[in-house]
Amino acid sequence: MNQRELFLKHVAQTSPTPLGLEIVKAEGVKLFDANGKEYIDLIGGISVANIGHRHPGVIAAIQKQLDAYLHIMVYGEFIESPQVKYAKLLSDHLPASLNSVFFTNSGAEAVEGAMKLAKRVTNRTQIISFKNSYHGSTQGALSIIGSEYWRNAFRPLLPGVSHVEYNSFEALNSITEEIACVVAETVQAEAGIIVPSNQWMQALRKKCSETGALLILDEIQTGFGRTGKLWGFQHFDIVPDILLLGKALGGGMPLGAFIADRKMMQVLTADPVLGHITTFGGHPVSCAAGMAAMTALFDEGILTLVKQKAELFKSLLIHVKIKAIRSFGLWLSLEFDSFETNKKLIDTCIIRGILCDWFLFAANCLRISPPLIISEEEIRKASFVIREILD
Ligand code: PLP
Repeated sequence: MNQRELFLKHVAQTSPTPLGLEIVKAEGVKLFDANGKEYIDLIGGISVANIGHRHPGVIAAIQKQLDAYLHIMVYGEFIESPQVKYAKLLSDHLPASLNSVFFTNSGAEAVEGAMKLAKRVTNRTQIISFKNSYHGSTQGALSIIGSEYWRNAFRPLLPGVSHVEYNSFEALNSITEEIACVVAETVQAEAGIIVPSNQWMQALRKKCSETGALLILDEIQTGFGRTGKLWGFQHFDIVPDILLLGKALGGGMPLGAFIADRKMMQVLTADPVLGHITTFGGHPVSCAAGMAAMTALFDEGILTLVKQKAELFKSLLIHVKIKAIRSFGLWLSLEFDSFETNKKLIDTCIIRGILCDWFLFAANCLRISPPLIISEEEIRKASFVIREILD
């Protein structure tokens, strides 16, 4: 059996049509397949490789940590310097109230932890989330995602969850003193990059403060510069009560986090003691890698060029078949008339060495979320290929 057959036979599948590329090397913005073919990566591992694949700083930090220790104890018992240093670095770049970092293995686990924390802090049980939002595949996260199609097959799910319209002022009336938390993506990713209005975000923050519902912002995709600022919420001049991070947080290693004020986070230490624990959350190698990635993001001034690169993409991606472009930072959604048009484009792009894909809840939209270090030349080349295929 060849590799592809073994992959299909022994690696559990998530769809009948996986991309199925066999990548043997990744470097910066490029991926290389088993035949030596080179790809410009416009997916970035779904907003993971923000500083590029295998950044030398990240590789060096991983190697250094490998020489010290791997897993030594379950999360929260030992003082593990990669966790301490990274939690401090994150806190230094967040508003003062977001100063306590609970590390997890994944984004979905950050969502789970945050919902549990909100229940304990507020003594309430009801949760509000938004239509077309994506928060992960574990049962709690699945309960709050905004698609009946994905939820329905796995019922019963968490009780007490209401899914309301995103960016709707009317929907804010559902936030009452019964609500433990409101979970929102700062910008809806899998809906095809839906950016809420400033006024709505501020009204959402105000309503949560008035009712005592905790505002949980999911920045698992919007974090680490994707939007042109370090955090997406900075565009809206608000601060969440709990912040969710994942994806780029680990610099290519698995890592998630929910972050809140220490006073709030302390409730997880008692009644029951050890009520929220994880074996591998905040793995020292992941924390070392993530810290190196965040340091590189600053040291290399990567954020400063995000807007300019996004503008270049937008100026080059003009074509009669592109019905609309939505974007926020170096994160674009190109809308086509159908999934079929989009899929044909994606398949041909891959043949031509450009990797892109669609959004979970917007299959007719092409996702462009490359590593933020993509060069002007790579943007021009990728855009040229996309336009040529559309022609
Ligand atoms: N939240 C958002 C906005 C996401 O995009 C994702 C993953 O795509 C998640 C949560 C879940 O993260 P993970 O796949 O690491 O569990």
